Amino acid sequence: MPDRYAVIGHPIAHSKSPLIHGLFAQATGQDMVYEAIDGGAGPGGFGRALAAFRAAGGRGMNVTLPFKLEALAAADEASQDARLAGAANALRFEGGRVLAQNFDGIGLVRDIEHNLGLPLAGRRVLLLGAGGATRGALLPLARAGAARIVIANRTATKAEALAHELAPHMGACQVEGGGPDAAGAGQAFDLVLNATSASLGGEAPAVPAAAFAPGALAYDMVYGKGLTPFLKLAQAAGCTRIADGVGMLVEQAAEAFAWWRGVRPDTREVLQRLTVPLV
Ligand code: NAP
Repeated sequence: MPDRYAVIGHPIAHSKSPLIHGLFAQATGQDMVYEAIDGGAGPGGFGRALAAFRAAGGRGMNVTLPFKLEALAAADEASQDARLAGAANALRFEGGRVLAQNFDGIGLVRDIEHNLGLPLAGRRVLLLGAGGATRGALLPLARAGAARIVIANRTATKAEALAHELAPHMGACQVEGGGPDAAGAGQAFDLVLNATSASLGGEAPAVPAAAFAPGALAYDMVYGKGLTPFLKLAQAAGCTRIADGVGMLVEQAAEAFAWWRGVRPDTREVLQRLTVPLV
């Protein structure tokens, strides 16, 4: 009997995770199946689906919107990344215990450094947005050696509170938060990350052209949408290095796969297959 894994979310039909993990399993010769589970919109749906999957012998799950907070709450043990992100995107079932991880930020860092060739040590980072994606990215960016992170968010108080909460865990990395003008006049950044959901509504978050340092990378965490308003704005500001979040998606999946199966798959082929041209 192959080992069972799944992704749970609502809605879930759009999820690329079954395709990604299916390709990883094939490439690494792992005897496993991976399915998509819709946790439903009503209360208690996540808990019921989780219990049913474990009772049926499930070994682990990826968790996507809107269940990442519930997934952390359901865990007996969680990694520091998951605890400080306040959310889990991967679960492993071991004996009677549920272990939780959050690989989104690690996937992001791996994509930026390994696939896109921007080492993060000493870099200045502008992080737009103060939601779950930003929360999950902060610690991994600091661990990778980013020198300074400015969180700029439409709602300034959220960014300020997040910076205040996570600063004690970020070692030598300076972090500050504020409103859309938190980047400050004339400040330039080596990496400008759009971690808002503005692209999904066809909008770009406010960011001054001067924020893009020469040679900067502009990265939109949204994927599969081509040239988003944020990436267009970056290009108009003279930025020539742009990327969307497909690599983050594939790399976080590879981390989860390695955590479950003890073998890290090569991501290049899967990444090529899922990449949508940025035009
Ligand atoms: P979230 O928790 O709902 O946070 C959304 C953030 O976007 C908030 O800071 C919000 O500002 C801001 N925002 C929304 N609309 C805006 C607009 N029109 N202008 C400016 N700011 C706006 O969402 P999330 O979970 O952090 O996800 C953020 C994005 O990352 C999503 O697009 C998601 O698809 C993407 N993501 C990608 C991956 C991947 O693997 N590639 C993984 C995780 C997330 P306020 O605080 O003012 O409301």
